[in-house]
Amino acid sequence: MHYDYIIIGSGAGGSAAAYRLTKAGKQVLLVEKGKKLPKDGSTQDFHKVINQGIFKSKEPWLDKANKPFVPEEYFNLGGKTKWYGAALLRFDPAEFDADPDYQCLAWPIEYEDLAPYYDEVEKLLGVATFPIEPDLKIISDKIAKQNSGWFSAPLPLALSKSILV
Ligand SMILES: Cc1cc2nc3c(=O)[nH]c(=O)nc-3n(C[C@H](O)[C@H](O)[C@H](O)COP(=O)(O)OP(=O)(O)OC[C@H]3O[C@@H](n4cnc5c(N)ncnc54)[C@H](O)[C@@H]3O)c2cc1C
Repeated sequence: MHYDYIIIGSGAGGSAAAYRLTKAGKQVLLVEKGKKLPKDGSTQDFHKVINQGIFKSKEPWLDKANKPFVPEEYFNLGGKTKWYGAALLRFDPAEFDADPDYQCLAWPIEYEDLAPYYDEVEKLLGVATFPIEPDLKIISDKIAKQNSGWFSAPLPLALSKSILV
């Protein structure tokens, strides 16, 4: 087989590149060392995921002193992105400006330059907002009542609405 591009890893980085390249008519080989995650509910089982860490990699790496350690990695189709890549916030337009108080220069691009890409990815990944959870609502209502200037706003999440069912 001939490939124009070979991409290692199927997380957000690899799959976004593969998506763009295949759309442009390129032959792409996407190589992934992990397996597909099961769809039997175990990925939403707090005990299995957090306490037992059954989906975490057990693969030891070596630090600069050649001492083995096991980093918190997930090798599965979709990568760590499947576990952690949910909250997809846009930068605020003001964040592109210089901030002399922190000696930050302005970005060389503006919000408007990124906006079409934000639009595209949010559509592609089905970014949606979800109602605030009842326990959190009690806390955020109390904070807002004190005229603290804080308010709550839904977080844009790349999660299927069906995950709530
Ligand atoms: C606790 C935590 C919370 C986070 N929360 C958010 C959030 O809310 N919103 C957000 O945008 N980002 C969040 N992030 C960051 C986000 O998860 C990462 O930036 C993003 O997933 C990185 O994508 P990636 O494609 O670079 O890597 P990954 O998604 O990790 O993909 C790498 C892929 O490469 C594969 N791979 C590795 N080595 C090989 C090999 N030798 N051969 C073949 N395949 C290989 C892996 O199996 C994996 O599938 C969070 C990160 C953490 C740790």
